[in-house]
Amino acid sequence: MAEKSEYRGNIHQRQKQLMLDWYARLEQAAEGGEPKTCSLMVSGNCVELLEAFGIVPIYPEVNALQLAIRHQSLDPILAAEEMGYAADNCAYVKADIGCLLKGITPTGTRLPEKPTLVLCNFVGCNTYLKWFEHVAKFTGAPLYVIDVPFLRTAEPSKEDVAYVVKQLQELVALLEKLTGRKFDPDRFRHAVECSARSEELWSRIKHLAKVTPSPFDAYFDAITLMGPLYVYRATQEGVDFFAQALAELEAKRFAGEGIYERERFRLVMEGPPPYPYFRTFRDMFAKWQATAVASTYSTVGGLWEFGFRHDPAQPFESVAMHMIAQNVTNRNMLQRYDQMQRYMEEWKADGVIIHFVKSCRLFSAGQGDMRDYFSKQLGVPTLYIESDLEDPRYFAEAQTRNRIDAFFEALEHSKAHPRAKAEPKKGAQLCVLPQA
Ligand code: SF4
Repeated sequence: MAEKSEYRGNIHQRQKQLMLDWYARLEQAAEGGEPKTCSLMVSGNCVELLEAFGIVPIYPEVNALQLAIRHQSLDPILAAEEMGYAADNCAYVKADIGCLLKGITPTGTRLPEKPTLVLCNFVGCNTYLKWFEHVAKFTGAPLYVIDVPFLRTAEPSKEDVAYVVKQLQELVALLEKLTGRKFDPDRFRHAVECSARSEELWSRIKHLAKVTPSPFDAYFDAITLMGPLYVYRATQEGVDFFAQALAELEAKRFAGEGIYERERFRLVMEGPPPYPYFRTFRDMFAKWQATAVASTYSTVGGLWEFGFRHDPAQPFESVAMHMIAQNVTNRNMLQRYDQMQRYMEEWKADGVIIHFVKSCRLFSAGQGDMRDYFSKQLGVPTLYIESDLEDPRYFAEAQTRNRIDAFFEALEHSKAHPRAKAEPKKGAQLCVLPQA
């Protein structure tokens, strides 16, 4: 039985280099004031507009997860708690604020002490608002909040889109003032076009996981690809990276190669991973040769596998559409059920793993009901486990391992004896969303 999985293709090396280049540019900004920088959120980011001004994004969430993965998150979390942040605050916030106060960065390179702008592209989670107010206060940088309406219906209304477009246009005026540069509509359209091409390639990569065996893991490997998706999506470098990634993974598919010698289980993963124990957690699934064929977490920055693309013919409107409707954080729980059920059916998964994250109410509130819905209503084998995405104090390794082992033992039994599987309840159906 395989105990570990370590896929290290060229794309992983290229991804590493791209992220190091990004940190190098941020260090350059810290030293000389150029390039201009902007702190913003991953979910519903409008990186295309920043690219139009040559502004480099800073994602506090990416910094926080990089720290956790390198086992460096506890010190800044404790520093934030010492200054009064509560134990149950989001640990991403505490790690980020602790880092600001102590001058810690994931790679040891400097980050700009004062970004050109702190942009709170508020979607879904109201923690963002306070987090970015604090970032603006501690750095002294100007703050602009984009108020993105929650997706209340299947599609956003015209008024919601117009409301966000108006704010994006205000943001353009503010960026002109802060950078001293005139807005270039052609550069903006080009950025949007690059995003559309990166999204198409990324979407095709995700659809490769429909094949058995899947040539990539749509949770653990997808996370590797998500950094470039947020930082470089709107650039030619991003397009080239995703073209290379697709070519490499397609070659694996044509060679019939999966993640493991034999793919025994196919999973849908829900929720962010425990970054402080990322490797350990991955190995718990590798032991069972279980591949994630889809994950909701890989859609926090954008939901492209179901067809949405940025549109250079309507650059502002499509950026607004993306912010409102095309990221999992700004959608309701029933829409997430739909998304997961599509994964179960179209990506042919055997079960669902729900990872409850103590820090993150946005992802985790309602996951108890979700477990009941999938296991009892739909008869889908479902495992619910708990820890945290950033704080290492909440990962109980032995208990998590035991539960995962027990889940796969039961799943193996039900696959060998299909009649042992729970039958979906009669009349079970997914949510029906009201139309706009
Ligand atoms: S609560 Fe969750 S979604 Fe909100 S900022 Fe923290 S990690 Fe992100």
